[in-house]
Amino acid sequence: MDVDLRGSLEHAIKDLEVPAFVVGLHRTITIANEKASSLLLESQCHVLVGTDLSDILCPAAISAVSSWIDEVVEGIATQVKLGITLSLNTGPELWSVVSLKDRDDRLTGFLFQQVLITSALPDQSILDAFNNPTAAADLDDLARRELRWKTAVLSANQGVWDHDFELDRHFLSDTWREIRGISIGAAAAETTEDWLKTIHPDDVGRVKEQVALQESGATDVVNYTFRQRHADGHWIWILSRGRVVRRDENGLPVRIIGTDTDISDLKFVELERARLAERLGLAIEAAEMGQWEQRIETKNAIWDDRSLKMFGLRDNLTLRSETDWSKMIHPDDRDATMAHFHSCQLEKRDIACDFRIMTADGIEKFIRTRGKFVHDVEGGDRYIGVNLDLTKDHQKTVALEQARNRLEYESRHDPLTGLANRRRLDEVFLVQSSENESDLMGAMHLDIDRFKQINDNFGHDAGDFTLKHAASIMKKYLPKDVLVARVGGDEFVALFPQAQNRVVMEALAEQIIQAFSMPFFYNKIRIKAGISIGIAALDRQEQSESSLLILADIALYHAKKSGRGIWQFYEPHMKTQTSERIKIQDALISAFEHNEITCHYQPQFDAQTMKLSGIEALVRWESPTSGLIMPDQFLSAAEDMGLIAKLDELVLCQVLTDLECWEAEGLSVPHISVNVSAHRISDPDLGTWLQRMKLPPGKIVFELLESVFLDGEDATISANLSLLQSMGVDVEIDDFGTGHASIISLLRISPKRLKIDRELVEPIVHSPKRRGLLETIIRIGKMLDIEVVAEGVETNAHIAILRELQCDYLQGFALSKPMNSANMRELLIARR
Ligand code: C2E
Ligand code: CA
Ligand code: CA
Repeated sequence: MDVDLRGSLEHAIKDLEVPAFVVGLHRTITIANEKASSLLLESQCHVLVGTDLSDILCPAAISAVSSWIDEVVEGIATQVKLGITLSLNTGPELWSVVSLKDRDDRLTGFLFQQVLITSALPDQSILDAFNNPTAAADLDDLARRELRWKTAVLSANQGVWDHDFELDRHFLSDTWREIRGISIGAAAAETTEDWLKTIHPDDVGRVKEQVALQESGATDVVNYTFRQRHADGHWIWILSRGRVVRRDENGLPVRIIGTDTDISDLKFVELERARLAERLGLAIEAAEMGQWEQRIETKNAIWDDRSLKMFGLRDNLTLRSETDWSKMIHPDDRDATMAHFHSCQLEKRDIACDFRIMTADGIEKFIRTRGKFVHDVEGGDRYIGVNLDLTKDHQKTVALEQARNRLEYESRHDPLTGLANRRRLDEVFLVQSSENESDLMGAMHLDIDRFKQINDNFGHDAGDFTLKHAASIMKKYLPKDVLVARVGGDEFVALFPQAQNRVVMEALAEQIIQAFSMPFFYNKIRIKAGISIGIAALDRQEQSESSLLILADIALYHAKKSGRGIWQFYEPHMKTQTSERIKIQDALISAFEHNEITCHYQPQFDAQTMKLSGIEALVRWESPTSGLIMPDQFLSAAEDMGLIAKLDELVLCQVLTDLECWEAEGLSVPHISVNVSAHRISDPDLGTWLQRMKLPPGKIVFELLESVFLDGEDATISANLSLLQSMGVDVEIDDFGTGHASIISLLRISPKRLKIDRELVEPIVHSPKRRGLLETIIRIGKMLDIEVVAEGVETNAHIAILRELQCDYLQGFALSKPMNSANMRELLIARR
């Protein structure tokens, strides 16, 4: 380097704002300014001038810069300037390098000058120091690009490859090796074929295409991604960018330089994002959501296919105006929905609302929409949202709600009659009695008379029908504000919330009784039933639930006792009677347990011969404390407790035992009649019961109350009657004349005997008229071949008249009172 040049260079470099130095052709630093020294020597303790260039280049730059310098020296490369990274300071610095030539165009060295990223060009004033038109010429386009490119390469940790076909030189940078895990200095794939072997099979085809494309010279630049095997065995994603930097005279590339970037991480993120997007898409599809995106400025929205389908739109118009959409909202929901949308848009809030729509097909649907407000500087503010079709859920909710209401209703109502049930009665009662008013509350307790008989005689359907019939009568006659509840099998309670005067309640009860006493038909069966009613009224303040309803119950009991089919208003004395009754019931249970139930016998005599003709067994309660208790004291209690059948059975057992003993003694015993309750004769299992009882044929007679045969025909009763006949059990009709049995029903039953009730027998002594009635009954009996027994024969006068009237048998105190088993045995012995 000549002195002049050196001097002017030194001068120019010193004045530079940025660090700069000059390297001679032997690649040692010959000149450096202070800034370069202080920058590059921070961690070095020797003088910068004299340092070898390779000592301050970073490893990646050494080969690139060296080969470029070689080329410049050999005169192959054009004079370019390039960006490099020096190794001596911590951060990468960008330097430009310019070849220096003297006035005679001889290459004398290279100027390294740090540049700001924004200015890739060396300072013009330095270039001007060279009075050489070529050196002063500005960077040509290629050089400028290469400078930038190398700058980027070196700072972005990219692997560099450089194929020079003319020189047959293939350069691979250290980073290129690092990326692939190939240690520096180790051999990399020699030929293109070898290199292709390391590429993922799925990508080989694409890579070959790109390589061929570039080598054909068709394009200057190729970009492609592929997977390549890392030395560790895993795949890495590489982005390769190649550029033709030199062509021969035929235009074919002779040198291609490229960079490889490991984009595995980016690719991972990209794949992950694609996977996420796919998953999101699937989720949206699975949730049957429709998407929409609305620009707030225009209020127009883009709908996806599912949204269109949801709204029943088939026009495939994905861009829709807000009015277009609002027209489809159900008129009842439209204003509220639009108001919500507009206020959200105004306040830039997220949208969340449910509304109904009428689809294009006219179907009502329930839609839930959610919109996320997105502030978008470029595209304008907008909403990204989804629509959900909740119709099915809504229908389910409605169905559930209906089911819940139905259950709620059913849990408080009687399914048969539709009346309230006990639970509802209790609830209403509680509310009404807690209301702070002092007026009267009233209650009626209603009970169908002999309901069991209706059930037994005509079947359960008829029983159900009777209950419904009773319910309809109650609903018809009772005021609307009265709650009528079915509280048991055939029991009902009517609750009067308002002050009801006693006369009004009694009149209502009377109307119900009258209406229900009218015969009604069920499947051509004529049913005649009755109802008994207990009524009670109490001051709201003095009453608790139990009292009012219990008082009505007590009144009902008295109504039943006093003959059924009537009403009773509660009176205080009833309460004591009731408590006595409860005492009897308790005592009766213990009587059954302690075998205190037995029977006495009352003989019957042939009216003409006065011989013993029969015996009636009559139940007795032999109480160790109260002595002998008669049936009228406990029969109704036993009936209420459902113990009658059991009681009849006990009597029959006693009769059979006595009969067996007496006959074993050789005593001649006439037939013995037992009283049989109505339940037994309508019991479909009578046959089994009879077999179990083992009745001796022709010895036992069943006395049945006339009232049993009062109503209609019953298949079970008829079957049971023929069963009795076949087993040699005669039937007598008891208390004849009180129950209004018709002659026709008598004929049907064809009993062995009639027992004329005491009430008809008693007056014959004083009343010729009543005597005439008795005579007629006896004559009818004779005509129908039915024997007649007179009950309650109390005097000799009775005996005389009855004998005269041709009555067959006599039973009464005048002849013999009922007696215990021992006395009966005595009598049989005496009669032998
Ligand atoms: P019932 O079947 O009509 O029985 C005749 C009743 O009249 C008996 O009363 C008897 O003691 C009474 N008696 C007999 N002769 C005379 C008389 O000359 N004057 C008066 N005043 N009474 C007379 P008892 O034993 O108190 O029975 C009353 C009713 O209890 C019976 O009337 C019958 O309906 C029922 N009963 C009695 N024992 C049984 C039984 O084992 N089972 C069933 N289910 N009912 C029975
Ligand atoms: Ca009797
Ligand atoms: Ca009788």
